[in-house]
Formats: sequence, structure tokens, C-alpha cells
Amino acid sequence: MFPKGPQLAGLFVLAYLAETMFRTAGLALLLCLVSISGLSQTHYIPSVQDVEAIYSAAQTTYVDLHEHPELSFHEVETARKMADGLRKLGYEVTTGVGGNGVVGVLKNGNGKTVLIRTDMDALPVPEKTGLPYASKVMVKDDAGHDVPVMHACGHDFHMASWLSTATLLSQNKNRWRGTVVMIGQPAEERVAGAAAMLKDGLFTRFPKPNYAIAIHDSAQFPAGSVAVVSGFTAANADSVDITIYGKGGHGAAPDKAVDPIVLAARIILSLQTIVSRETNPLDPAVVTVGSIHGGTKGNIIPDEVKLELTIRSYKDEVRTHTIEAIQRICKAEAMAVGAPKEPEIKVKETVHATYNDPDLSARLTASLKKSLGNERVVKGDPIMGAEDFSEFGRTGVPSVIMWIGAADPQKLAQSKQTGIPLPGTHSSLFAPSMPDSLKTAIRAESTAAFELLDQP
Ligand SMILES: [Zn+2]
Ligand SMILES: [Zn+2]
Repeated sequence: MFPKGPQLAGLFVLAYLAETMFRTAGLALLLCLVSISGLSQTHYIPSVQDVEAIYSAAQTTYVDLHEHPELSFHEVETARKMADGLRKLGYEVTTGVGGNGVVGVLKNGNGKTVLIRTDMDALPVPEKTGLPYASKVMVKDDAGHDVPVMHACGHDFHMASWLSTATLLSQNKNRWRGTVVMIGQPAEERVAGAAAMLKDGLFTRFPKPNYAIAIHDSAQFPAGSVAVVSGFTAANADSVDITIYGKGGHGAAPDKAVDPIVLAARIILSLQTIVSRETNPLDPAVVTVGSIHGGTKGNIIPDEVKLELTIRSYKDEVRTHTIEAIQRICKAEAMAVGAPKEPEIKVKETVHATYNDPDLSARLTASLKKSLGNERVVKGDPIMGAEDFSEFGRTGVPSVIMWIGAADPQKLAQSKQTGIPLPGTHSSLFAPSMPDSLKTAIRAESTAAFELLDQP
């Protein structure tokens, strides 16, 4: 017997109520589980007040480092300041790792090991910022020339944030478990310091990290913001020096000579076909001839011409192909003009592309959003600049470098309107916009550190 109209409607209502109750109970249970697991997975996030409490020390460190910059491989006083700073905070400090490198280890029970890197070197740039603490330092460089020195890449800023992060970790040992390895890396501008520290036993003499993090300031983003680029974020960089040989003679008798200037011109144009004709259009690459020197006078054909190139790429195979293509084109063009000798080609200062581990990038982006708010964690694009922080990631350690906004927000907005770019890193006019930029750096770097360490 089938239920009649009203009975049927009643049954439907009962069934509907039962299902709704079941769903509600299920949802409540689910929410309960989420909140419990959420509680157990909430890593400590340093507050605005935490950063304010240590900011004046960070500012003093920054100003002192800015006034006293040191060139790559000469970071002696800077390294001493970093080592002293860590020692006072209770870190076990080793100096002279891979040159002037500093390693500070803070063990705090069982848990993950997190490496936090700052670079320490400055650049031979004359400071023109007009800041009250602008550098007036002049030194003799390795070639014996008098050169000005400036923290034009913000490594002073990175060190101030790094020591502040070390401070927050040491002040809040009850809020994390694991091991922190703070490293002060020399010679980043020569892309040599990271490799030197690794070669000197960074991962064998000291705890090998589960994760490595670093920051770099950027004039592309407004002060107060941070950007994490997932995947490739900076490029492979190779310098290539080429000497092209010809046969010198009188400028009025080119038939008696082999003109290396014309040969150099042919080579430079042919090199431009590597990226435009040989490389997969979806794989970024750059071949720039940044320097050409040859000859002394208009009526003399010289014996040789020297070229200096920078080569950029992301993928290893693109890098290898580009260098092989440069060698092939140079040799072939020299043969085409009957040069007396093959060009000499030297590849140097190799640094690998910086790859931000995608899972780690997503995890850190989420925790930075919790710490700073969604709107201050901005989207960044990969660049063809280079960073030797890549070397730590190349060993298999998941790594992320975060870009810290350094531009005055109003000036950045103006520059976007006018199309006139703001002075960026390596410019004699570059300076991070204080205090927002440094405060954000400290919050971002320390948030990332607490996120990756274990909880008590
Ligand atoms: Zn730089
Ligand atoms: Zn730099």
C-alpha cells in the first residue's frame, strides 16, 4: 500500500528534518575538528608591538652599517658586528666560514632546522642620496683604485632585519622548537659567497637545514608590502669575456689587414640571433654585450678587440645552449673573415637561477597574509637579475627568498603615472623608505621563521 497525499507530504517533511539535523551535526563536528587542528597548527606571529619594541635597535644597526659599508670579500668589521650581535643573543657563533662568513646556531629542542641568510657586502658606488647617514667611505679596491663604497643594494637593511629576527627568536624560545642557523654571507655582489660557505662545510660542520629563507629589498614594490614569487624568481648569470684576434695595419690599407673591429661587429649582431632564433620563445634568456674595447686611433686597424657579455637564463639547458652557441658563432665568424687565430672565450662568475620552492612559497604566502594582511602581500614577477642565495636551494634544501617593498608608496604611484622609474638597487640614489620598509622586513622574516620551526 502506498501512502496517500497528506501522509506522503508528512514523510517528506520528516525525512527533510532528519537530513537537515544530520547535516548540521556533521558541520558542527567538522568545524570543531578544524578549529582544534587549527589551534594546534597556529605558529607564533610576531605582532606590531613586538617589532616596535626592538625597532630602535634595528634602526641604530641599520644606520651604523649604512655609514660603514665594506666591499665584497672585505666584510671584516661588518662580520664582526654580526657575530657580536648573535653572541649577545645566545647564539653559538663561528666566524671565518667561506671567507668572512658568520654562522650562528640556536638549538631549542627537537624540531626542524631553519637557515636564515643575510648578505653583508656593499658596492663601489658613490652615494648621492643626501641622507644624514650617507656613506662617505673611500677605499682601495682589489686593483688598487680609489673607489667609493655604498650599501646601494640594501644589504645593510637585510642585516638589520636579520639581527632583529634573531632577537625575536631568542626572546621567544618558549614559542618554537628546533634549530635556527643564522648565516651572514659575504661576497653576494660577486656571487661567490654562498658557494664559498657551502664549500667550507656549511651543511656538514653545522646542522643541515630543512628550509632556507632570505629577504631582498626591491624598489618595484611599495614600503609596507612583501612579494613571494613561486618557482624561478631570479636568473642564471654568466659573464663571458671574448678576445677577438685580427691582423693590424694601416687604416688606409684594409686589404693588408684582418679588421677585428668589423669582425666584432659581425659577432655582436650574430649573437643576437641566439635568443631570437635558437632559444625556445617560452624560455627566457638574455645576451647582452655590455663592453667593447679595441683600437687607439681612426687610421689604425688594431690587432684585437675585447668584448664583455652578461648571459641570463632560468633553465640549465638554456644556459648551456647559449654558452655553446656563443662559442660556435665566435669561431665561425672568425673563420669567415680569415682571422689568424680563433677568439679566446672565458666564461666566469657563474651563479645559478634562484628557484623558490612552490610548496614553501604557498605556505609562507599564507602565513605572511595572516601576519601582514592580504593586501600587503603582493604579486611579484620573476626577474632576470641574479642572487647567489640560489646555491643553498641547489643542494636540495627547499628555499624561498622574499622581496621586501622599499619604495616610497607616493613616489612609486607617481612613477607609475609618469613612466619615470624610481632609483633601484645599485643606484647611487637608492635608499629603502624608512621606517615602514624595515618594520615590514622584520615582521615578514620573523613570521616566516616561526612558521617553519616546530611548535612547543
Ligand atoms: Zn646587488
Ligand atoms: Zn643585493
